[in-house]
Amino acid sequence: MAAAAQTPAKHAAPSRRQRVAILGSTGSIGVNTLEVIARHPERFEVFGLSSHQRVDELVAQCLRFAPRIAVLPDRERARQARRALAERGSRTEVLDGDKALCQLASAPEVDAVMAAIVGAAGLPACMAAAAAGKRLLLANKEALVVGGELFMRTVAEGGATLLPIDSEHSAIFQCLPEDRAAWGGRIDHIVLTASGGPFRGRAPEALRGVTPAEAVAHPNWTMGRKISVDSATMMNKALEVIEARWLFDLAPADVRVVIHPQSIVHSMVVCRDASVLAQLGTPDMRVPIAYGLSFPERIASGAPALDFMNLRGLTFEAVDERLFPGLGLAWAALAAAPGTTAVLNAANEVAVQAFLDGTIRFPDIHSVNARTVERLPPRLAAAHGLEDLLELDRRARAEAAQAVRAAAAA
Ligand code: NAD
Ligand code: MG
Repeated sequence: MAAAAQTPAKHAAPSRRQRVAILGSTGSIGVNTLEVIARHPERFEVFGLSSHQRVDELVAQCLRFAPRIAVLPDRERARQARRALAERGSRTEVLDGDKALCQLASAPEVDAVMAAIVGAAGLPACMAAAAAGKRLLLANKEALVVGGELFMRTVAEGGATLLPIDSEHSAIFQCLPEDRAAWGGRIDHIVLTASGGPFRGRAPEALRGVTPAEAVAHPNWTMGRKISVDSATMMNKALEVIEARWLFDLAPADVRVVIHPQSIVHSMVVCRDASVLAQLGTPDMRVPIAYGLSFPERIASGAPALDFMNLRGLTFEAVDERLFPGLGLAWAALAAAPGTTAVLNAANEVAVQAFLDGTIRFPDIHSVNARTVERLPPRLAAAHGLEDLLELDRRARAEAAQAVRAAAAA
């Protein structure tokens, strides 16, 4: 069984500053991580940063945090960053190329890796960090959805400490004993909360005309564009169901979902004795990030505490499956051949991008996802190693691109 958090003793109060690498430092989670780290210069040192396209933001972060290494996979962008940094007298080394992210994630100097890249693109670096036994702070849920059992096995074999950053999974994790060995037999099931996103309560037919700008306008959280669209379709919750199945080693049926529009209760553990443990807080990602960085201790996150006197009630309701047909795909994919969750994830990444590009309509995201999973035979979905999974991801993207063309032409 894989290890989401081992014995607390292994991570007793650090005797020196923890060296942190942030993969995807220019994104929403990356920036929040740097904010938490900046509050604790005595505890953390930024060792490495990475970005995909945003050269100027990455350069600014390097000038402020002076990491040893910065990664820009694209060679030309890396050259621009090197030039800009040299002009300002920075000593940060800029790496580029396909291997650079894995190199950073597994560098011997690195203690903790914040995996904050969006999508399956982050999987190889997560695996490298896991194999190298790092403290792995996982925001990049797609990596676990694609990697599944292989990901968890690599964590266990590498002796890594996997700490969930997704707020729901951090909530579950915070409700459980620090020592994973004590989890066994306590959990009856878990309940992931979902806000319902910007379209909760609408008529399903009304979603045909929604624009990308409407879809990314989340009522409670400010996040990257991809996860914001996923929240609007509730594919985010589907990915989180799969993520929870692996993180907490649960039967898929023991991962349940309830709508909670206020996003105050971040998720719940229903114990064998019917006692329910919940974690509450303001919707602010700095809280789970701070917990991941400091576990098993707690440090200031910068988030405001809950103001109970001004809470206007906590409500819960069932998911409207007509409005959110994608959610059920999570359990269906978990019940199908291994690798099916990787296919579902790839389809969704392609579909969301096509929607953001204006190629397909919002409800087409669901049909592209369902059609891709249907069309890729289970034989092809049998995956064993990282290369198999990456190949499956490529095939699923090609299949999904066809589904996008079909949807756009309809
Ligand atoms: P974002 O789009 O704001 O940032 C993504 C980061 O990844 C950027 O730094 C970008 O440069 C980098 N990146 C993008 N594509 C890449 C590629 N192909 N190769 C290398 N780097 C690449 O996204 P975000 O909202 O910060 O989300 C990051 C991850 O965290 C996602 O998996 C998301 O589901 C998860 N997450 C986010 C939140 C949130 O509040 N934003 C909450 C829970 C989980
Ligand atoms: Mg979440």
